[in-house]
Amino acid sequence: MPLTNPNELSYLEPGMLYQRIIEQSQYALACGALQPIETESTYLKFGEIQFLVRVLANLERKDHAKKNQGKTKDFNPFLPYDPDLLVGQLSETHVALLNKYNAVENHLLIVTRAFEAQESLLTPADFSAAIRGLEDIDGLIFYNSGKAAGASQRHKHLQLVPLPLVTTGVKFPLEPWINAILPLHSQQLQSLTIRELPFCHQLMALPPLLKTDSSGLTSLVHHGYLQALQSLKLIGSDSPTAIPKPYNLLLTREWLWLIPRSQKSYQDIEINSLGFVGAFLVRKSQQLEQITHNHPRGPLTFLKKVACPWS
Ligand code: AMP
Repeated sequence: MPLTNPNELSYLEPGMLYQRIIEQSQYALACGALQPIETESTYLKFGEIQFLVRVLANLERKDHAKKNQGKTKDFNPFLPYDPDLLVGQLSETHVALLNKYNAVENHLLIVTRAFEAQESLLTPADFSAAIRGLEDIDGLIFYNSGKAAGASQRHKHLQLVPLPLVTTGVKFPLEPWINAILPLHSQQLQSLTIRELPFCHQLMALPPLLKTDSSGLTSLVHHGYLQALQSLKLIGSDSPTAIPKPYNLLLTREWLWLIPRSQKSYQDIEINSLGFVGAFLVRKSQQLEQITHNHPRGPLTFLKKVACPWS
């Protein structure tokens, strides 16, 4: 029997996102549109934190994926997107696509329907689509703003991975450090720092997503985002429409977090937003040893090297 693409009714009804991801993943796997990247997971214990390092099981597969991603200089995998990867429309301005080469299960891309540059400022429409995703899925939204922050595609895409990311009893490795400060400072948008982290960043508590009107929350998060960009000096206060310096943004149902970036990799290990919640992806097992053996503070040293010092 020929496969029928289930995405024909593509507008996402409230509460249907997770089911649609599962349904579309089955279809896309069967027809070859989805090409998961196999990895092996190792946990590195650092005090109470267990960092996750995924090692690619099949380097050729990933290299093939990379080659295909960059067919030509102007190749844009999201315009047009592959309809076999379409999960549905999140809003008038954003679609939800499966990540074609996913290392994390049910990894979603939240992509603008019209072209916008990846490093341009996030808009209320971007946050509205992201919050729509978080209403249905208790997940982590992330945004790699610019190549130095880990972005590989120039068309604007936020990403959503369901939580938990790890099997160690927390939602993600650094959760204990965030949970230790959030309850003490639950005042909305108050600027917080995680004292264990040796680099510049800003964390903000948000009101509970499921109990807050979504358009009010969208404006609040957008406002907090602009405030963080300015206080981290990623944009100047006199030119708020300029392209910001590179940064990673992470957003959950509870908080918003921005981290300025200096470079995309250290010792050939590339780090994107997921590195900052404690999840690394490396190409070969020697790189895992590089993280553990060469550095007494292990993963934190790598994060510090690709982030920026406090000024
Ligand atoms: P980033 O590398 O963070 O910019 O995220 C872009 C993601 O797009 C990568 O994780 C790729 O796996 C994914 N990707 C590349 N080509 C396609 C495609 N044709 N359709 C969907 N996802 C893709």
